[in-house]
Amino acid sequence: MKRWVQLGLLVLAGALVFVFFSVDLGPRVEYVEEQPVEDTVVVPLPPPSAYGIIMDSLVLREGTVKSGASFGGLLGAEGVSASVIETLVSKAEGLFDARKLRSGHPYAFIAPDREGATPHYFIYEADPIQYFVFHLLPGNEYVTIGERAVTVTQHAIAATVTGALYNDLAKAGADPMLAVLLSEVFAWTVDFYRIQKGDVFSVAYAERSVEGKRVGAPQILAARYISGDKVKAAFRFGEGKEATYFDDEGNSLRKAFLKAPLKFSRISSGFSGKRLHPVQKVMKAHLGTDYAAPYGTPILAVGDGVVEQAGRTGGNGNFVKIRHNGVYSTQYLHMRKVLVKQGQRVQQGDVIGEVGSTGLATGPHVCFRFWKNGAQVDHRKEEFPSAEPIAQELRPAFDAARDSLSAQLDEAELALAAGRMVNF
Ligand SMILES: [Zn+2]
Repeated sequence: MKRWVQLGLLVLAGALVFVFFSVDLGPRVEYVEEQPVEDTVVVPLPPPSAYGIIMDSLVLREGTVKSGASFGGLLGAEGVSASVIETLVSKAEGLFDARKLRSGHPYAFIAPDREGATPHYFIYEADPIQYFVFHLLPGNEYVTIGERAVTVTQHAIAATVTGALYNDLAKAGADPMLAVLLSEVFAWTVDFYRIQKGDVFSVAYAERSVEGKRVGAPQILAARYISGDKVKAAFRFGEGKEATYFDDEGNSLRKAFLKAPLKFSRISSGFSGKRLHPVQKVMKAHLGTDYAAPYGTPILAVGDGVVEQAGRTGGNGNFVKIRHNGVYSTQYLHMRKVLVKQGQRVQQGDVIGEVGSTGLATGPHVCFRFWKNGAQVDHRKEEFPSAEPIAQELRPAFDAARDSLSAQLDEAELALAAGRMVNF
């Protein structure tokens, strides 16, 4: 019934419009300039402000810290007296180190809007979130800390590997930093040197932003790697620093060893019983895996252990050998620089040296050797034990988190074909 009434009204309106436009009914109306309407309610705009300071009759002058610039130097050049600077340095003690103005960081002066006026405020941006406000009026010097609002958003994205994962993620609209984080999350379960074109990564992550700009690194909440019929998943679970990644079944992804001693590089020569030695030009067994990378690339200990040897030989160049336990040892050759000493305890992921080409080497690479019970083996064919699984009492909470994150990954994978990003 209502519909009919509406339709009726529409028809009536249409008829009126028709009449209005088709017949010149009244006398001609002359154009009259629009008069300002009195009694308008004026809504005042909020006064402009910067860093929480009302800018009424003040102006903002922004700059970037140049290398070698000091707190005293910057303020002195603006006419701020030495005694004000001294007072502020002492008041800021423990809060802010005036000797450590970082080059490239933004700063600003806020001063009265007239020639040669000494500024009332100096602002130094410690990072994209936090800034220091120095109140410069003589006799009333003090320091306050300001913080911009941080927004945390959650996203999920899936990308097909076409070349470098870094580029594929960037193309898909995600922070390419996720490529590095994925290699860390999957360090124990996915061999990043064997990723192939057509493989798919999906990842759910949280991102922090300030005023619409990303700040800091994203945090991976869950990820899935699909290669043919092989699927590896990772779900973040746990509190704060204790949080780590688990598979679908709640087993820790953390294994005894990293898959490789470098984060990014390529395998230039695999483990084999026989190969033509690139320098000696004779057939020899190659009982290691060569990872080519630029000079100076950090070399990481693949597991916790003790440095058994840190030295130099003609063939190996500078090298380090780490004993991880009674079964396993690893060795890293041709370093440009050795950064650990014999007898030193190292943790998994510690930087133990830098990629070089010392010894018998044709270019910068690390020759990575792996011993199992005294025999050199191909570490890429070894199965390593998992770390602790999820505790039984935490299983219900883990299962719920996993299911919800799994659904986000599913959605991202479905959206991949449509080329869109999923925001939760
Ligand atoms: Zn080698």
